[in-house]
Amino acid sequence: MGNNKFILNEKNGVKYYTIPSFDETGLIKHMFTTRIGGVSPKPYDSLNLGFNLEDEKENVLKNYKIVSDVMEVSLDSCVLSDQTHGTNIRIVTKEDAGKGIVRQKDYKSVDGLLTDIPGLTIFTFYADCVPIFYLDKVKKVVGLAHGGWRGTVEKIAGKMIDKMIKVYGSRPEDILIGIGPSIGPCCYEVSEDVFKRFNENFTNTRNMLKKRGSSRWMLNLWEANREALKEKGIKSRNITISNLCTSCNNDIFYSYRKEKGKTGRMAAIIQLV
Ligand SMILES: [Zn+2]
Repeated sequence: MGNNKFILNEKNGVKYYTIPSFDETGLIKHMFTTRIGGVSPKPYDSLNLGFNLEDEKENVLKNYKIVSDVMEVSLDSCVLSDQTHGTNIRIVTKEDAGKGIVRQKDYKSVDGLLTDIPGLTIFTFYADCVPIFYLDKVKKVVGLAHGGWRGTVEKIAGKMIDKMIKVYGSRPEDILIGIGPSIGPCCYEVSEDVFKRFNENFTNTRNMLKKRGSSRWMLNLWEANREALKEKGIKSRNITISNLCTSCNNDIFYSYRKEKGKTGRMAAIIQLV
């Protein structure tokens, strides 16, 4: 086994994280971007990859160019999600190449992406929510899912596995997972309503929710997503968790909560080579 952590890298002034177990397969290029290395001004400083914010489109496009150069992928190969905190998963095909960046998207409400096409580069976006990376090293399939508390409680993490089995014939024991930086159990306080929702959908929430005060709870999204993946037969040894909190490390990550919504977006990116 390699190093069971996310690793911080730097290239051309861009800081980004990678998952050693994914790199060891030699099948993919991937990264989780940080806020370091782009051109956007405050409060989007500096590597903002989110369109539809108040950051200038020109800045965001420059940031895409910077990231695609670091990753050595073309912008024509990129396919972007359309996140709504839902659990819809899109099977990305050659016809989708460039959608969301060099061409208009023709789909709505997509929080998960999967593809088995080499050369397509898929993107999902974050500022506190959980990025989940998927790699079936036998069937050669890659995927990304966006798990905020809604996606997490609705088990988008496990729905991705169901889809991989159905569409690609994947076996759970062949799938590697990376659970990236997000708001951590140290900082993510939620209401009693959220606590109730998790208790409806998970059999045991003792490791995911810790009581704080009379009616507030601290939610561990990493643990909840790990549990949803274990329910689908994913091996613990195949799951890498970054344990990095975006709110505690606001100097390197965007945090929607910490910055009260005025912030940029990071991306999870993966391509089968
Ligand atoms: Zn924290």
